[in-house]
Amino acid sequence: FSRLKGGLDKTRSGFIQKVTGLFTSRGKIDDELFEDLEEILIQSDVGVKTTMKLVEELEEITEEKKITEPEQLIDIFNEELRQILESDDNGLELEDGLNILMVVGVNGAGKTTTIAKIAQRFKNEGKKVMLAAGDTFRAAAIDQLKTWGDRIGVKTIAQAEGADAAAVAFDAIQSARARGVDLLIVDTAGRLHTQKNLMEELKKVRRVIEREGKGANIEVLLVLDATTGQNAINQARLFNEAVQVDGIALTKLDGTAKGGIVIAVKNELGIPIKLIGVGERAEDLQDFKPDRFVEALFN
Ligand code: GDP
Repeated sequence: FSRLKGGLDKTRSGFIQKVTGLFTSRGKIDDELFEDLEEILIQSDVGVKTTMKLVEELEEITEEKKITEPEQLIDIFNEELRQILESDDNGLELEDGLNILMVVGVNGAGKTTTIAKIAQRFKNEGKKVMLAAGDTFRAAAIDQLKTWGDRIGVKTIAQAEGADAAAVAFDAIQSARARGVDLLIVDTAGRLHTQKNLMEELKKVRRVIEREGKGANIEVLLVLDATTGQNAINQARLFNEAVQVDGIALTKLDGTAKGGIVIAVKNELGIPIKLIGVGERAEDLQDFKPDRFVEALFN
């Protein structure tokens, strides 16, 4: 919890401080207060749609409960956040037998480090983990993944640069089955400048995983960089359209003072946030638990 709290320092002293500061500094609840709240939320990456929803709800509750003290709005706002972030499907869990996790996201979002952190975590839990170097577009990506694999002590299936990413996934699934692997993590390319080709490539990888991985628990995890704000939301829509994303890993939350992006992702995409990254170390990739998250923000 202390690492989570530490990782959210910037958001707490930015976004949350501004909101609570607004509620404690005003003498009365009026339109101006709600307008100022709106501005803070939008500036903090909450997104226009979600901001409107939050502010309207707050206005309604204020009227219904006949609230007159601005300070009372802190608890109500806190509760609203909890409700938006609530979801049945939090964290990353393995099923019995083979689990295949296809990891997608643009270059630089933190895909490789997220894969390494996940691999480390399940290796520590005694699971047999394997990596597949599916970003065949960049030789450096293949090398980087292998290096992580060696460091963690898990096998990496790779082919040469320029190889067919779907063929790498195919090989890796065969190999994972033969070796009784619990978790196969498939890296994928994230070049943005040739978006169309990339999405076609990802669709093909997904098809091969579905076909060859029949009977396995298959999930697609999208890695998003929290510091890119509304761009992250747009990326999520693109990836989701192409490969149907099951969950999101939101990285680099420690690098932004506008943690409102968590609320926008949750409310606007309808895809559960499974993991959050609050630093560079393995233990800084945490299961996303809404209650703990809100508690870390307000305490
Ligand atoms: P990829 O291109 O998507 O594979 O991105 P990388 O995994 O190479 O990550 C890009 C950079 O982001 C690296 O320097 C990582 O250490 C850093 N990074 C990833 N996740 C986090 C995080 O949660 N917090 C911070 N501060 N840095 C992160």
